[in-house]
Amino acid sequence: MSDHQTLYDLVVIGGGINGVGIATDAAGRGLSVFLCEKDDLASHTSSASSKLIHGGLRYLEHKEFRLVREALAEREVLLAKAPHIIRPMRFIMPHQPHLRPAWLIRTGLFFYDHLGKREKLAGSNHIRFHPIDSPLKDDITHGFEYSDCAVDDARLVVLNAIQAQEMGAKVVTRTRCLSAQRQNGLWRVELENAQGIYQIKAKVLVNAAGPWVAQFIQQDLQLKSPYGVRLIQGSHLIVPQLYEGNKAYIMQNNDQRIVFAIPYLGKYTLIGTTDNEYLGNPNHVEITEKEIDYLLDISNKYFKTQLTSAHIVATFSGVRSLCDDESDNPSAVTRDYTLALNHEFEDEAPLLSVFGGKLTTYRKLAESALDLLSPFFVEMKKSWTEKALLPGAENLNSIEELVAQLQDKLSGISHELATRWVHAYGTRLWLFLNQATSVHELGQDFGHGLYAQEVDYLVEHEWAVSTDDILKRRTKLYLEFSENDVFTLDNYLIEVHERRLQRDVA
Ligand SMILES: Cc1cc2nc3c(=O)[nH]c(=O)nc-3n(C[C@H](O)[C@H](O)[C@H](O)COP(=O)(O)OP(=O)(O)OC[C@H]3O[C@@H](n4cnc5c(N)ncnc54)[C@H](O)[C@@H]3O)c2cc1C
Repeated sequence: MSDHQTLYDLVVIGGGINGVGIATDAAGRGLSVFLCEKDDLASHTSSASSKLIHGGLRYLEHKEFRLVREALAEREVLLAKAPHIIRPMRFIMPHQPHLRPAWLIRTGLFFYDHLGKREKLAGSNHIRFHPIDSPLKDDITHGFEYSDCAVDDARLVVLNAIQAQEMGAKVVTRTRCLSAQRQNGLWRVELENAQGIYQIKAKVLVNAAGPWVAQFIQQDLQLKSPYGVRLIQGSHLIVPQLYEGNKAYIMQNNDQRIVFAIPYLGKYTLIGTTDNEYLGNPNHVEITEKEIDYLLDISNKYFKTQLTSAHIVATFSGVRSLCDDESDNPSAVTRDYTLALNHEFEDEAPLLSVFGGKLTTYRKLAESALDLLSPFFVEMKKSWTEKALLPGAENLNSIEELVAQLQDKLSGISHELATRWVHAYGTRLWLFLNQATSVHELGQDFGHGLYAQEVDYLVEHEWAVSTDDILKRRTKLYLEFSENDVFTLDNYLIEVHERRLQRDVA
C-alpha cells in the first residue's frame, strides 16, 4: 500500500466544491494534483445548499459589496460554462411594507442589476399579483421580480472533478487524510482508504475540508488555526409542488431573515433555509422540529396552499463553515471566503486553508488560491477557467435541441428521462448510451428511468460507489425510489463492484 515516492505539487483535502474547484484550476495550469475526499464527492455542504448561483440580495444589507459584485458576475460566467446544470430563474419578492420599505428594496435591486456584469439575465421589475391566479394569499398584492440562477449543486462538484481528472489530477474518494507533517521542505501526507493506510508527498497542502477546516488544522496537522470558525446549520424541506410555474419566491420573515420557495425537479418545491449555530458533529446534521415549524410557518404566511408536516416528502441539512467575525446573529456572519496561507520560513512547505465561501464563488476562490500559490510554482500557467466549458457543455446548443436529438436516436425514451439526462450529462450522455438505439438495450431497468448502463457509467467515470451516491447526488432519483427499488440497486452495485475487483486483479 505504501506510495512514499509519489510527489505531487498540490494535495487537496476535501471533495466539496472548493476542493474540486482548486484541483481543476491547478491541474489546468500544469500542476500535478491529488485530491482526496473522505466520503463521496459533494457528500456534505456542497449537496445541502439552496442550489442557487446568486449574487445574494440580502448580503447587500450587510454591506458585503465585494462578495455580491463577484457573485453577480459569476452567475453569467457559470451559466455559460455549464448551461445543462445551471439555468436562469426569476425570483419574486412579495412586498411586505412593515418589513422592508419599497425604496429600500428598489435601491437593493438597482445595485443588484448594475453591480456585476449582466448580459443574459433579465433585470428587475415591479409586479402586481392577481388574486385569481396568484399562489400567494390575497392580501399580498404587489412585489418585485429579479433574476438569479438555479444549479444542481452536487453535479457542479462532480463535473469539476471529472474536468480535474481529465487535466491529469488524481481524484480519490472514500480516502481520508489522517495527518500531514512537514518534512524536508515537503508535506508527508498520510491517507486511509478501505485497503489500508498509505503516504504521499506534496509540495503544497490545500485544506478545503469545509466544516472540518479548523479541526483538520488543529487535530490532524497539530497546528494553530488562524481563524475561528462558526458552523451554521441550514435546512430545507422538500414538499409537493406548491404552485405552478418555474419562478422562485423569496419570503421575508419578521426576524429580518429571508426564506426561498424554489421549484425543484419538476414536481416539488424546495423551502429553505434556516440559519442556526451548530455545535454537533458535521457528519450528522439533521433538521430539527423547530426548523420544520419555522419553514412551514413562513410558507403558510405567504402561500394559499397551507402545509403541515404531513406534506413533507424529504428534508436535508448542511453546515456552512464561516469565518468567525463575532456577529451575534448567525444570519449576519460574513458569507465571504478567506484564504489563509501558512508559510513562515523559506524552506517550509506551504499550507493553504479555505474558510467560508459559496458555490457561486468557487471558481473565483480557486483563482485567488492559485494566485496566492503562484510564488511557489513559477512555471505555472495563467488562469483559464473563466471561458472553459465544464464537461457536457461542449457543443451544447440548447437543452431542447439535445432532448429532441436524444428522443430521435433512442427509441422508447420518455421526454422526462431525456430531459433528466440532458440536464445531468449534457452532450456527454452519448458516452453511456454506447451505440444503444432503444431503451431496451440499456440493461437492467431499476425503474424511474434508471438503467444499468447509466449506473455502470456513474461507477466507472463518476466515482459512484453506493446507492446514495447514485440516487442522492448523481441523479436525485432518491425521491422516487421505494425501499425495494433501493434494495435491487444495492444488489446490482455489489455485482458491479465484484466485477470491477475481478477485472483489476486480472
Ligand atoms: C443550507 C445552505 C444553503 C446554501 N445555499 C447556497 C446557495 O444557494 N448558493 C451558494 O452559492 N452557496 C450556498 N451555500 C454555501 C455552499 O454550499 C458552501 O459554501 C459550499 O458548499 C462549501 O463547500 P466546501 O467545499 O468548502 O465544503 P464541503 O462541501 O463540506 O466539502 C468539504 C469536504 O471535505 C471533506 N473532508 C473533510 N475532512 C477530510 C479529511 N480529513 N480527509 C478527506 N476529506 C475530508 C468532507 O468530507 C467534505 O466532503 C449554502 C450552504 C448551506 C449550508
